[in-house]
Amino acid sequence: MHNTYLLTEEQQKLQRWAYELAQAEFQASAERWEREGIFPWEHVATLAEQGLLGFTLPRAFGGLERSRLEAVLVLEQLARVCLTTAEIAHICMNGPSYAISRLGSQALQARYLPEVVAGKRLIGIAITEDEAGSSLGEISTRAHVRATSVVIDGRKCFTTIGDVGGTFEVVVRFGGEGTRGLGAVLVDADTPGFAVERVYEKIGGNGIHEAALRFEHCEVPREQVLIEGDPATSNGFKLVMRAYNALRLGIAANSLGVAQAALDQLVPYLLQRRQFGAPLAAAQGLRWRVARLALALEQARLLTYRAALLSDDYGFPPAYETALAKLAATEVALQAADEAIQVLGWRGITKDYAAERRYREIRGWTIAGGTSEMLLESLAKQVLRHYEQSSGHALQAE
Ligand SMILES: Cc1cc2nc3c(=O)[nH]c(=O)nc-3n(C[C@H](O)[C@H](O)[C@H](O)COP(=O)(O)OP(=O)(O)OC[C@H]3O[C@@H](n4cnc5c(N)ncnc54)[C@H](O)[C@@H]3O)c2cc1C
Repeated sequence: MHNTYLLTEEQQKLQRWAYELAQAEFQASAERWEREGIFPWEHVATLAEQGLLGFTLPRAFGGLERSRLEAVLVLEQLARVCLTTAEIAHICMNGPSYAISRLGSQALQARYLPEVVAGKRLIGIAITEDEAGSSLGEISTRAHVRATSVVIDGRKCFTTIGDVGGTFEVVVRFGGEGTRGLGAVLVDADTPGFAVERVYEKIGGNGIHEAALRFEHCEVPREQVLIEGDPATSNGFKLVMRAYNALRLGIAANSLGVAQAALDQLVPYLLQRRQFGAPLAAAQGLRWRVARLALALEQARLLTYRAALLSDDYGFPPAYETALAKLAATEVALQAADEAIQVLGWRGITKDYAAERRYREIRGWTIAGGTSEMLLESLAKQVLRHYEQSSGHALQAE
């Protein structure tokens, strides 16, 4: 509610600007993308005009080079109004384009980033395979290295923007076993041997499609290798995951916006709707739900802003803080979207109000970008390791 505490006047102005832009440009059609299942190319153009696709990308390639916290603030406000549009901005600000800007050669940056900034090319990330979901050590898509090229063979599933992306960062095996030997190669969608095999129908978030991608002897120049896999180590995989933290944090930012939108809908309804001669807001059970949601949202927001202020050596947000933020933000968004339906009663499940759409749109986000369970596992490992490494952790009698 008073989410101005830590923010400068400039940052608050940016928040207001993003919210007003989203209301003016994206609100009217937010429901249409979902209903018709159309990808909003018009919004890509508007995002490009407003500098939002290149928001975090280098000035040298047309971007605005704004901070990650500013990107979080903008995404939160866009997602409050239209999650579909926020997701597109997020993919460009935090996804493979951002990884290219931090890890790619000058030639790769010059080739891809100006087109991303201009809204002429979207770059997706293809990691997941049928047999490699949470367990990425089982990735089998292969990169065969030749003198001047790399040949990719394999299949990826559930790749966001798989049907409209111009390029994909494909996580592949250069050899080795488990996470050893994994790395990432950029493959353009017009490369011979690349095919979109199918597009999935899903519960919601239908303006943006996920697709299965096939790579059959897809040959790309050696220069397209973004992260080289070393069959003897997991170094390539670790770098892929470090870059992935930027995407993970963007999911947290979007989720904050969705949670806020749910709260913005359910609280006024509690105040206005009367049953048993009093507003619903007078019922303690419902008031306390609001308080719990506000608490969880503030916690998630603080965690997300904190992670956004921190960077590793490459400029990606750190794993531990990002996992906390993503877990907290996606879970409060899902909870708030669900509770908005409950509080609205029968209205909540009709298509007359945004509550049911919001729930369907957010349902996948505790799965995408590292499931809640995998994030808990990674957090648990780090906390346990910390205590295992410090002496004197055995239970002591007082
Ligand atoms: C909206 C959306 C967008 C996506 N976009 C992309 C994309 O752009 N690119 C891409 O590569 N992938 C994408 N994915 C796929 C996503 O990364 C995977 O869904 C995710 O990694 C989990 O893999 P899985 O679905 O195969 O589940 P599985 O790994 O099969 O797991 C199934 C369930 O079991 C749980 N589980 C698994 N192992 C354990 C364990 N050891 N302990 C406890 N619980 C466990 C999981 O948390 C999950 O709930 C997207 C997914 C969604 C929902």
